[in-house]
Amino acid sequence: KLVSREFKKENTIIRFPNGVTIGGEEIQVMAGPCAVESDEQLLFVAERVKESGAKILRGGAFKPRTSPYTFQGLGETGLKHLSKAREKTGLLVITELMDPRDLDMVEEHTDIIQIGARNMQNFRLLSDVGRARKPVLLKRGLSATIKEFLMAAEYIASQGNQDIILCERGIRTFETMTRNTLDLNAVPVLKSLTHLPILVDPSHGTGRWDLVIPMAKAGIAAGADALMIEVHNNPEEAFSDGEESLTPENFERLMRECRKVASAV
Ligand code: PEP
Ligand code: MN
Repeated sequence: KLVSREFKKENTIIRFPNGVTIGGEEIQVMAGPCAVESDEQLLFVAERVKESGAKILRGGAFKPRTSPYTFQGLGETGLKHLSKAREKTGLLVITELMDPRDLDMVEEHTDIIQIGARNMQNFRLLSDVGRARKPVLLKRGLSATIKEFLMAAEYIASQGNQDIILCERGIRTFETMTRNTLDLNAVPVLKSLTHLPILVDPSHGTGRWDLVIPMAKAGIAAGADALMIEVHNNPEEAFSDGEESLTPENFERLMRECRKVASAV
């Protein structure tokens, strides 16, 4: 298998034209709102997360919502806001692709293509991003085993695109105190099975902003190469995932505490 450690022993390092790497020495943090809500909101959050040390801005323009009656994202307008924020701040950008028909448009506005948990086994979508020229962040499915996760990555790799980041974002368990159960076992298990970089998303992994900092630190201690953190200018008024979003002040604290853990591991 192309993504397996047996096939390739050295860790894959994804390199961007501006010098940022994922899977190398530095732990990268992708931060920003769950959804792009407006030009001003995105730019405000982008500048704040940049000040705190993030080098990658996240923000969804196409949102896979449980209910069709809730905010579905700004679509192409949201992508344009992301492009503008990228230009103004120099941050790299990551955004979710839900439909193969939007691939060209999304690719034009983003540096990393995100495949959401709900699409982890959308095999047509996986094959299509496997032919794209941008790195892909693949999120683990809500109930996917690690084997299924790796086979989904194989769909992408087998089409030629080997710049894949695997994201642990919590799985469904019987527990109800948290939205999902962040499976930190997956980090060292994946590290042993694959050469691809591993990212931990404690925002979706817990669904609770008050658990995000401790689980981000735990993710780094477990060996994660990168983190994805939801940050909102006003979490209480967020269009989506406000309960798990950090304020810019709390994000600053997360970065401070994570630097300490990173230097200790
Ligand atoms: C997101 O990143 O906002 C998202 C929808 O994530 P997931 O696919 O992990 O639920
Ligand atoms: Mn979200």
